[in-house]
Amino acid sequence: MLEGHGISNSHPLKEIIRQLARQCGFAQAGFAAPDAAPYSERLPLWLAEQRHGQMHWMERQPEQRMQPRCYQADVGTIVVLGYPYSHGRYDAGSAGIARYACRPDYHDLLQQNMALLVERIQAVIGDAIPIRRCVDSAPLMEKPLATAAGMGWQGKNSLLVSRQFGCWLLLCELLLPLSLPADPPVQRSHCGRCQRCQQACPTDALATPYWIDASRCLAYLTIEYKGIIPRPYRQAMATRLYGCDSCLTVCPWNRFAPVTFDADTASLEARWQALTWMDYATLDQDRFRQLFGATPVARVGLKRLLRNVAVALGNCNQPDQAVPALTTLLHHPDALVRAHAVWGLGCYQASSQQALLALQAVAQIETAPEVREELAELER
Ligand code: SF4
Ligand code: SF4
Repeated sequence: MLEGHGISNSHPLKEIIRQLARQCGFAQAGFAAPDAAPYSERLPLWLAEQRHGQMHWMERQPEQRMQPRCYQADVGTIVVLGYPYSHGRYDAGSAGIARYACRPDYHDLLQQNMALLVERIQAVIGDAIPIRRCVDSAPLMEKPLATAAGMGWQGKNSLLVSRQFGCWLLLCELLLPLSLPADPPVQRSHCGRCQRCQQACPTDALATPYWIDASRCLAYLTIEYKGIIPRPYRQAMATRLYGCDSCLTVCPWNRFAPVTFDADTASLEARWQALTWMDYATLDQDRFRQLFGATPVARVGLKRLLRNVAVALGNCNQPDQAVPALTTLLHHPDALVRAHAVWGLGCYQASSQQALLALQAVAQIETAPEVREELAELER
């Protein structure tokens, strides 16, 4: 079985577009027909099983998601583009923040690069031909489409795995109104007997291979999920503040990924790594915007970031730093933050008199039901 792009189904315009895409920073460009992509038909069952948690937007436009032609009738070809972001360091990310977020927001970056690419393609085919750019902005199933375009396969971690770039590709798409021959799809998984991602997952969200239970996934719980983090997942969060890279970092296919270091990322990481736990606990809106405003972390907002910080403090096993920081969060104006600060302090109440006293003091004055519920839980 021939795989990958450029092996067959060639067309001069495709090769030109691939070359232009490389010039615009995209390491991979694959071509797919706007038809149902492999495995996209599993979406209704995945939704019916409530694997998407609170991400209700995924329930909308299911036909369009499964069949891009229903989304845009005149689309002839989908060009799936891959932007590499391997750092060559397979640790859990900087300061508990997922790798893709340790850089200026990728939506802006990909939009800029795609705008340049569109300009160059239109210089070849004529600027009267409209080309639509999509970065998480259209109901497209980008991983199945990337598989259809021969760029890789959806691994047991549910992510696109590329032979050349491992799991470290950001995806976006161009919708062309021209019909070009599709690339040969990758028709089977190359995960083989490997189970590293499943074993690395701290919440069993990958218990069924190739079928992520997003409602259990820490990337979902720390970013998308808006409420009180369910108790069974709090310890599993460890010191993650935004997202989770565990099932990406362990993938053996990463070993081929070229390192794409960039100065913006390095400087952001250095700033974040210099923050103390108390710096986090005392963040206000201005400082939050200063530190995270240009990055994907801005998406969770200060309140949810502090919720995650409170859980991380409970797990960090550094009572000297954690107890004062959690005591500060215990008096935060938002009950969501205070509720998690109670849980965090509860992790130290057996070993720290200061933690116990702070909890006893707050029990006298706290009225918010969700915080009282956490206080009551400590008594059980
Ligand atoms: S991102 Fe983390 S929690 Fe989510 S499936 Fe991967 S390892 Fe599990
Ligand atoms: S870690 Fe192993 S099983 Fe998981 S996606 Fe990578 S190759 Fe597949």
